[in-house]
Amino acid sequence: MSNQNNQYNVCPKVVPANKKSTIAIKPPFSFYAFKPDRQYEIVHYPVDYSERNGRDEKNCTFTAYPKDGILYVELYFEGEQEHIIYVNDITGGGKREIGVFSIYSLEKDLYNRRPYKGDMHMHTYYSDGLDSPAYVAASCRKVGLDFMAITDHGKYEPSIEAQQAYQGVDIDLRIFRGEEVHPPRNPLHIVNFGGSFSVNEMFEKDRDTYIREVADIEREIAGEVRQEPERYQLASAIWCFDKIRQGGGLGIFCHPFWRIHNGYYISTLLTEYLYEKQPYDALELIGGYHRHELDSNILQVASYHEQRAKGRKIPIVGVTDAHGCDTGELFGWYYTIVFSPSLKFEDLRDSIKDFYSVAVEAVPGERKVAHGEFRLVKYALFLLREVLPQHDEICLNEGNLMIEYIKDNNDAKKQLEKLKGGVDSLYSSYWTQL
Ligand SMILES: [Zn+2]
Ligand SMILES: [Zn+2]
Repeated sequence: MSNQNNQYNVCPKVVPANKKSTIAIKPPFSFYAFKPDRQYEIVHYPVDYSERNGRDEKNCTFTAYPKDGILYVELYFEGEQEHIIYVNDITGGGKREIGVFSIYSLEKDLYNRRPYKGDMHMHTYYSDGLDSPAYVAASCRKVGLDFMAITDHGKYEPSIEAQQAYQGVDIDLRIFRGEEVHPPRNPLHIVNFGGSFSVNEMFEKDRDTYIREVADIEREIAGEVRQEPERYQLASAIWCFDKIRQGGGLGIFCHPFWRIHNGYYISTLLTEYLYEKQPYDALELIGGYHRHELDSNILQVASYHEQRAKGRKIPIVGVTDAHGCDTGELFGWYYTIVFSPSLKFEDLRDSIKDFYSVAVEAVPGERKVAHGEFRLVKYALFLLREVLPQHDEICLNEGNLMIEYIKDNNDAKKQLEKLKGGVDSLYSSYWTQL
C-alpha cells in the first residue's frame, strides 16, 4: 500500500513466513498516541488473499491493544507475500481509518538476507569519465548505494584510488576494486568486479601467454564454434572470465544489445554463444543506456526471459556505466539490489551468482522498475516503496559528508563516524522480531 500514513513507524516491516509475529505501530508525536480508553481494530489482508480460501473480512479482523501510546498486534503471516494492515478507531461503534500499512513475510532463505544496493560499472577521468574516483564514490553514497566499484576502460588503478581516498575514515559505503576488460582484437566488454588483480594488465604485459592460452581454448571449442571471428572472441572471453574468477572477482558480460554506429557492438552470434556456454558470472540485464537508447535494455530483458524459458539460469546485475556524476544523465539511474547475508564482498558476489539479485531502473521522473525472477521482483517492489526510501535518506547524508571529507573539511570525519551504522540500525528495526 502507499505510505498513506508514513509518519507512523511500523516495526518490524519484514517478518518470517508461516509464523506469528507481533507488529508495533508507533505514532510520530504524542498527539497521535494510541489511547487506552479507545478501541482499535486491525484488518489484515494477505495480498494473495482469495475468497475461495474462505477468507472474509470477519476472519481478517483483530483487536489491537495500545500500550504506552503504541499499538501492538499479533498476527499470523502465511506464506511469502505482502500483507496490508488497516488500523481503524472503532470507539463507540464508529469507524475512523487511522492508517494503512504494509508488511512482507519471507521464507527463511530470503528472510536471512538484507537488500544492498550497488553499482559495479562506472568510469572516472582516468578513462573517458569526468570525475575523480573519490568523487564518484561519494556520489554513489549520495544516490543511496551500499557498495560500488570504479571500472575504467583497461585500468584497475582508479578503483584502488577510490579505496585509498577514504582510508582515514570509517564509512559504511563499501568500495570494491574493478576494471572494464578489453581483450586484444575482441570487441566484447567485460567487467571485472572485485577481482584481486588486473586482467587487462595480464595481456598487456605478457601478450604471448595470452595468445597461446586463448589458442588452446579455441582448439577446445572448435567442434562447437565453427565461425570466425566468434570462435576467437568466445575463447578470449572464456580466458578473461577465468582470470577474473582466479582473482576472486565476479565477471560481468556487459551491455549485449549496445548499439554503436549502425549495429550491436558484438554479433548476435557471439551473444548466442555466450548465453549457451555461460562463461560469465553475471549478465548486465540493465545497462547504462541514455533515454534514446532504452530499446537496448528492453531487448536485454526480453532475451534474458527467453533464455530462462529455455531452462537457463542467469545471474543478473543492473549498472549505470556512468561517465560523470553531475551530468544529469545515467548516474544513479540503474542499480542492482543484492539480497545478501552481509555487505562483505564474498557474500555479495556469491549471492549474485546464486541468483539473489534484481536489476533496477530508477530513471528520474519515472516509476522505478525491478527486473529478474518473479519472487524477487515482487519483494523488491515492496522494498522500493516501503524500506529503501528511508535507507536512501541515510545514505544521502553520509554522501554529502563524504564530499566534505575529500574537500579536507576536518569536521566531516567526526560527523561521518557518528553516523556510522545508520543503515544497519534501520534494517535491524525493520527486521527485528518483538
Ligand atoms: Zn563498455
Ligand atoms: Zn563502461
